[in-house]
Amino acid sequence: MANSVEALYIHVPFCLRKCDYCSFYSISPDEELIALFLTRLQEELAENIDLLSEELTIFIGGGNPTCIGEKAFGRLLEILEPVIATKKIREFTVESNPETLSEAIGNGLKCLPELRLSLGVQRFKNEELKLIGRNSNTAVLFNAFETAFKLTPNVGMDLILGIPGCTSIRQELQKKFGEFPFSHVSAYFLSIEEKTPLYQKLKNAEIGDPTEIGPEELFEVRDFLETENFRHYEISNFCKLAHECKHNLNYWFGKDYVGLGPSAVSTIKMRRISNPSNFSDWLSGPGQSVEIIDKNAEICEFLMLRLRLVHYGFSFEEFENRFRGHSESTLTLVEKSIKNQLQKGFLEPFEDRIRLSKQGIVYANEVISSLFP
Ligand code: SF4
Repeated sequence: MANSVEALYIHVPFCLRKCDYCSFYSISPDEELIALFLTRLQEELAENIDLLSEELTIFIGGGNPTCIGEKAFGRLLEILEPVIATKKIREFTVESNPETLSEAIGNGLKCLPELRLSLGVQRFKNEELKLIGRNSNTAVLFNAFETAFKLTPNVGMDLILGIPGCTSIRQELQKKFGEFPFSHVSAYFLSIEEKTPLYQKLKNAEIGDPTEIGPEELFEVRDFLETENFRHYEISNFCKLAHECKHNLNYWFGKDYVGLGPSAVSTIKMRRISNPSNFSDWLSGPGQSVEIIDKNAEICEFLMLRLRLVHYGFSFEEFENRFRGHSESTLTLVEKSIKNQLQKGFLEPFEDRIRLSKQGIVYANEVISSLFP
């Protein structure tokens, strides 16, 4: 088990303020809490460092990791120094909201190997940012883009699509691509969770229901990005050639990973280990829950993750090799369901593999779950 894990995720649970659609657990970046976080993180890294391979990706996500400020962020990088200094880092991603990507934070980031920045842009227009309760605006976005591209050419953005009352983001996206050479775009549809301010707005009919909005905006984004030579490589992710997020590819290809921080998850040798999401529970000790991934669950994950990788899919041969020895009747059942979806046109043959068709992408959840044993 030692030295085999090629992906390290650090979860920073702090946000300056809650976005109106967000139901994730996060806390305010109080100085004392940040200090406690960093101390426990250092211990947790020491407990897991022997698992890490000689070559790996690192991903600092959140929350909003850069909201802890320059000094604490510098300390976080110092904590990671035993990994950075002794291993080959294949990619080092830092997530940041635009409003906290300061020049000062940038000074700490610019020496990192293989730096990749992932900016939580979500929308470009002030009124749309306001509608979903983001702490940002057009000027803030512009400054963040300038800062980011001074640090690395490898900059991506997250977008939220399907917001009731908003027109397609394509035009603004096109304008921004005219100004900055982004290499990665993640685009997710808005989902309104209970106990969020946006849910209240939905109840009060102050905002429409996003579940009634079709996938057109995704297609407009995809069509524009194709003109920029981007590849649609995962259902919600697009990139320039060779700019896939290597860290996330590790998840999608079902490889092991280590996650540190509250609510972070690790998967090691078919055991899924989840840290407590509550900050105090995480601080006070391991308290992790462990789930054994059995063969049936492994088949479901394989189908789900690999079909999300719309450019890769999987081959029958790979499927059979991987699950050889598992119950014959289960494998026959899955293969029958795959053939059925191929006939319906929701899956399509691609080179020697199978992947979701353009039509299949629209109904991805239904298509993929129809294959589960
Ligand atoms: S910054 Fe991200 S994690 Fe924090 S509240 Fe907003 S959406 Fe949620």
